[in-house]
Amino acid sequence: MSVELTTSSPGETEAVAARLAKGLLPGDVVTVSGELGAGKTTFVRGASRALGVADPVTSPTFTIGHRYRGDGVEVSHLDLYRFDGVSNAEWGDLEPYFGETIAFVEWPEAAGDALGAVRASVRLGHVDPSHRTIVIAADRALLATVSAGC
Ligand code: ADP
Ligand code: MG
Repeated sequence: MSVELTTSSPGETEAVAARLAKGLLPGDVVTVSGELGAGKTTFVRGASRALGVADPVTSPTFTIGHRYRGDGVEVSHLDLYRFDGVSNAEWGDLEPYFGETIAFVEWPEAAGDALGAVRASVRLGHVDPSHRTIVIAADRALLATVSAGC
């Protein structure tokens, strides 16, 4: 199942992400796709805030990822932009970001099928400078959480 929303500001995108975050559990992986500037990091920032992350949430483009302490949960934020598939050795670098964390993965396509089960797939797209489409594919219960408060 999926839902499609349109937001008209970064704050609205963060709010959608915050509603999704409320339905996530440790061990969940959320992929966040879309071209450069579509709002992937903005989305992860909104979700991380809702999970209690107080540190600044910035793009991990020049590292594999960041790991944050949230409210009773660890949050991972990965950017796989520079990957072209994931070798076993590379998986050794990525693995610590998964497990009991809630993990958000930008550019998941680059990992091929190495990511395993994904709880929600988010795709952002440009409409104009301030509007973005957000398509979220997930289970019915999680989508209900996202839609509540629209
Ligand atoms: P990505 O991680 O996909 O490259 P970022 O989240 O880093 O994208 O950047 C998105 C940019 O688009 C930011 O400068 C943000 O302020 C801007 N923006 C404008 N409108 C929106 C919107 N509706 N949702 C998300 N970002 C938006
Ligand atoms: Mg980004």
